Amino acid sequence: MNDCVFCKIIAGEIPANLLEETQHSIAFNDIAPRQPIHVLVVPKAHHRDVAELAFADPAALTDLVQLGSKIAEQLSTGSFRLTFNTGADAGQTVFHAHGHVTSTTPKK
Ligand code: 5GP
Ligand code: ZN
Repeated sequence: MNDCVFCKIIAGEIPANLLEETQHSIAFNDIAPRQPIHVLVVPKAHHRDVAELAFADPAALTDLVQLGSKIAEQLSTGSFRLTFNTGADAGQTVFHAHGHVTSTTPKK
């Protein structure tokens, strides 16, 4: 998707603070964090939202959740949220599937 900001980050065309990647997914810090920990986990392939991803590539969705859980384990005390805004009316603004890993309790 030529005009997709997350595809551009994955292609290395625009910078991001990358934390970790797997075969299917990457994790980077949200540019406008709303919690002390706010990381995005993003499938490398373009899908509009998490619902489309779930039907098109369940293995990639599992990989995404595993990566988000691992990042949360590394950065937080273990309590975290993994949320997927799905559709404009639910607050989705970037139409490349992604999960928000957020936590109010960073690991000391
Ligand atoms: P949504 O509202 O679609 O669920 O979440 C999109 C998220 O992407 C927002 O939290 C926003 O701050 C983040 N975001 C948008 N553009 C960029 C960018 O260029 N780089 C990074 N790191 N995050 C972005
Ligand atoms: Zn994309």
